[in-house]
Amino acid sequence: MSIKAALNRMHYPVTTLGYGRRVGLWLQGCSIRCPGCVSQDTWEAGNALQHIDVEEIARVWQRWLPAADGLTISGGEPFDQPEALLALMRAWRRDDTRGGDILVFSGYPLETLRARHRTHLRALDVLISDPYEAGAGDTRMLRGSDNQRVTLATALARRRYPRDINTLPWSDGRRRLDMVVAGDDVWMAGIPRRGELARLQAALRERGLTCATSQQPRQSSQPQQPQKLQEQPQLLPVRA
Ligand code: SF4
Repeated sequence: MSIKAALNRMHYPVTTLGYGRRVGLWLQGCSIRCPGCVSQDTWEAGNALQHIDVEEIARVWQRWLPAADGLTISGGEPFDQPEALLALMRAWRRDDTRGGDILVFSGYPLETLRARHRTHLRALDVLISDPYEAGAGDTRMLRGSDNQRVTLATALARRRYPRDINTLPWSDGRRRLDMVVAGDDVWMAGIPRRGELARLQAALRERGLTCATSQQPRQSSQPQQPQKLQEQPQLLPVRA
């Protein structure tokens, strides 16, 4: 049976959201809606054009597998599409002969995920859980806010990521954004410092340029449509 995922974007290489150079998938749709979220363009559930067969997504990542160190799945909220999320992780394990790790971001509390999605938690290596809290500080690596928790679920994860990652601060060298120019759009992947997108927008405005950022939800009259996977897989837009 074909399983479809509502996909916002797909990109390789992503170097800012986990170990090494990774394939990044951003799923579309989030029911959690944390105040201050920098990914509000992913909140609306995907339109029909964004529902893509998991095997089609897997076909695209084939060309990246020989060099990829792992798979990062973010969103949106990946666990709002539990069937697609599990299918994607299983397809990655099936295809990835290099043994890359799977890292998943979720805004659900760790306890909720443990109660509802045990099978999923057994399929991943690294989980970053809990909702974004704007008032919680943003000093810890790989997280948007300091209340979020990192679970290193496998031996591979414990080899690749620092054991004290839950309390480890960002170092200046590590906190970066991947930037990709795709047509008229510039996309960033990574976790920006608080207020960074607003500062970028203001700086561009001073130079006479306007831009929308992912902190601004798209209007329902302007449904986002991912680029056709088969046409420009290397330029599938990425987002912060
Ligand atoms: S931070 Fe994540 S979980 Fe929270 S609203 Fe944004 S996309 Fe959803």
